[in-house]
Formats: sequence, C-alpha cells, structure tokens
Amino acid sequence: MEIYAITPALKLLNLQPPIPGCKKFIGAYLFHNEKSVIIDVGPKAAIPNLLQALTEISLNPNEIDYIVLTHIHIDHAGGAGTAIKEMSNAKIIAHSRAISHLVAPTMLWQASLKTLGETAIKYGEIEPVPEHRITAATDQMKLDLGHGLMLEIYLTPGHAPHHLSIFDRANGVLIAGETAGVCIEGAVRPATPPPFKLEEALSSIDKLIDLEPQKLCYGHFGCYDDGVERLKSYREKLLYWHKAVNLAAKAGKSPEDILALLRKEDQSLSYLGRLDREEYAREFALFINSINGLAGSAQKH
Ligand SMILES: [Zn+2]
Repeated sequence: MEIYAITPALKLLNLQPPIPGCKKFIGAYLFHNEKSVIIDVGPKAAIPNLLQALTEISLNPNEIDYIVLTHIHIDHAGGAGTAIKEMSNAKIIAHSRAISHLVAPTMLWQASLKTLGETAIKYGEIEPVPEHRITAATDQMKLDLGHGLMLEIYLTPGHAPHHLSIFDRANGVLIAGETAGVCIEGAVRPATPPPFKLEEALSSIDKLIDLEPQKLCYGHFGCYDDGVERLKSYREKLLYWHKAVNLAAKAGKSPEDILALLRKEDQSLSYLGRLDREEYAREFALFINSINGLAGSAQKH
C-alpha cells in the first residue's frame, strides 16, 4: 500500500482499487490521534485495500471513530456501507442532503450506472448504511480528536450539492474533496459534473480561501503547499472554462470539440499527453462530463 505522511497525525492512503486508470487517483485521508477519522473510504472495490492500509498502520478498524464523507459520489463514498460493517464503533458524518441516499442507495447506484456504465460496476454496487450510524454535518461543526487537534467541517456545495470540506486549523491543512478541482501530478482541472452550479462553487471556494490554508489536499490526488494560491487560481480557471465552454457550446461545438479547443488554449492540460492509455480514458470521460456540467450551468441562467 502507498501511504504518505502529511502531518504527524495525518496520512494519505492511495486506495488503488483494481480498476483501470485508478493507480493514483483515489485518496482517503486518515487522522490518527486520541480519536481516529477516515475522510472518504472510496468505492466498495477499494475497501479491502483500505482495511489493508489500517493493518499496515497497526490500527484496528474498530478504533475508527468517524468516517467523514466529502460527498457521496461512488468513487468517494460508494464503499461506506461495506466499510462500516468492519468498523463497529464508527459514526458516518455526511451532508444532510446525502443521508437518504446513504440509507437507501438505489437511486444513487442507478445514477452511477447511468453516468459511469461499466466503471460503476467495477467500483462495486453501493451497500446501504444503517441510519442510526449517520450524523448530519453542519457548517463549522467541530470534531475534537484530542491533543489539541480539532477538525472543522464546512459545507461546500458546487461540485455536488452534498459536498463538504474539512479543515485542520492547527496545521493549516485543508481536505478539499473536489471543491478545488482535480489535481493530477500537480495539474488542476475543473471537476464540474451536471448538475453543476457555478455561483455555489465560487462561494464555496471563497469560503475556503478565507480559511487561509497552507496545505491543500485533493480527493484526486495528493497534498500540495500554497493552498490559498491554488484555490485562487482554481477560481480563475473555473471562470475561464465556464466562459470558453459556453462560447463554444453556443457556436454548436460538441463536448469533444470543446475539449480539443481547451487543450490548445490551456497549457495546464498538457499533462493529458503524459498519461497512460487507461488514465487518459478515465480523464477523457470525466472531462466530457465536466464540460457538460459547465454548459448546463449556463443554460439555467
Ligand atoms: Zn465527485
């Protein structure tokens, strides 16, 4: 297992589910202190690796106190119902709008199948979470992990309406989920699937900028310094892409043509040329989804 130490109490686990294009894509975060918290568990197919990582850290699954879900997309939380069976003392903390989908995941599973097709099947069918194990997150909720480590939860809709981010103020570390986009080998791209709401996304980014994080940790993938600068440049990128995508969509261009156009104009997309075939296929599908989200968000204005 690839386990990266971010701070003395925080580790990034590369979950690496056995799915094409997922070698370095799905990250879970583990805060281990007096109390222990996992942020995002990944899809069902990643749970054996998550448990293996805990074994390597010498942490019994029953010692996990909380599982915080940044949002309930299948690649972040599809394995929550499976994981919680192994973590008998863990409470799940999720956005209030996510709870009904965790308890009865049929609609969520159907939506995952529709959006992701074969990939959803590889991620694994979503199992339900018993309602009494879930607590609704509220804005600025605090989780005291002991020894002066306090996590703050912020509701950050945009990428998804049920999205939240987690801040460790003492260490200046922000676990952004997908509020700050997706970062592949240092290059950041928008993560704006339908039904994307631009204004909500921008105000969530502003909320995170106000926290002045030093380190920014992405759900996909890794932690980087210069948190505030990264958030500011993502905000600019979102506005630029929103404009470019909508201009091109109005001119009748297809999402595939728009991607080709963006690749010419946005140098940061050069990372696409360095990916292997499976990683490229993953990114291509997610780009098309993000372009559709940005185009759709304009139609509603
Ligand atoms: Zn997502």
